[in-house]
Amino acid sequence: MSEIILEARDLAKDYWMGPSRLRVLQGVSLSVPRSEFLCILGPSGSGKSTLLHLLGLLDRPSVGRVIFEGEDAFAQPKRWRDRLRNQAIGFVFQFYYLMPDLTVLENTLLPAMIRTPLIRWPLARRAHRQRAVQVLEDLGMGHRLQHLPRELSGGERQRVAMARALVHEPRVLFADEPTGNLDSVTGGEIMRVLQGLNRKQGLTVVMVTHDERVAAQAHRVLHLADGRLLHDA
Ligand code: ADP
Ligand code: MG
Repeated sequence: MSEIILEARDLAKDYWMGPSRLRVLQGVSLSVPRSEFLCILGPSGSGKSTLLHLLGLLDRPSVGRVIFEGEDAFAQPKRWRDRLRNQAIGFVFQFYYLMPDLTVLENTLLPAMIRTPLIRWPLARRAHRQRAVQVLEDLGMGHRLQHLPRELSGGERQRVAMARALVHEPRVLFADEPTGNLDSVTGGEIMRVLQGLNRKQGLTVVMVTHDERVAAQAHRVLHLADGRLLHDA
């Protein structure tokens, strides 16, 4: 049996709107084997982004546990989760979230700059730069290093966002509707990039989408509706 890298146990998430409780997720349990490409498919508003944020330790569940590589993540101190997110987790989103005034290379280097103490940066910079250029080249962006995001197409912007998410060699990549803002041809190219990373590097990918055709390209699809998973229905 393959190793389980990530597990959710009986997750619930509530948002409070004044006095009234909105239960967005309820009783969500799942296991992700290392090197799987898992997709969670559900309509808009079903709780996909909320679930991905809990799995990626960006937000805390109201009930339940997230087990990352055997550790109960929300039983650990916040700085443990911050370190894990910095070292082991990458995120890509529908709207890229690139810094508009930074070049492609600078956007990709930004996480390393934030992680490295200022005093060490002059020495560390060269290695980080080489790594960032390598990742951008692997994603077909080696010819756009000095461009600004506004000078790129949507598909190119998503490749830069992926480079930024991959530059620290995460063990799990979370993708929230990564093709949601792209035409179907460009979206297909981004899916092939994700599949290639999964197949060639064994990167574990957890993606959410509302698009069945996109979901069909994953190893396994779980269906989310009204905050609940419909297991093997
Ligand atoms: P999806 O990504 O599947 O479209 P979301 O996880 O973004 O769904 O949202 C699920 C539900 O939770 C929606 O009804 C949404 O309005 C609500 N919701 C999401 N975030 C918040 C928030 N911060 N506060 C209150 N309600 C929220
Ligand atoms: Mg969403």
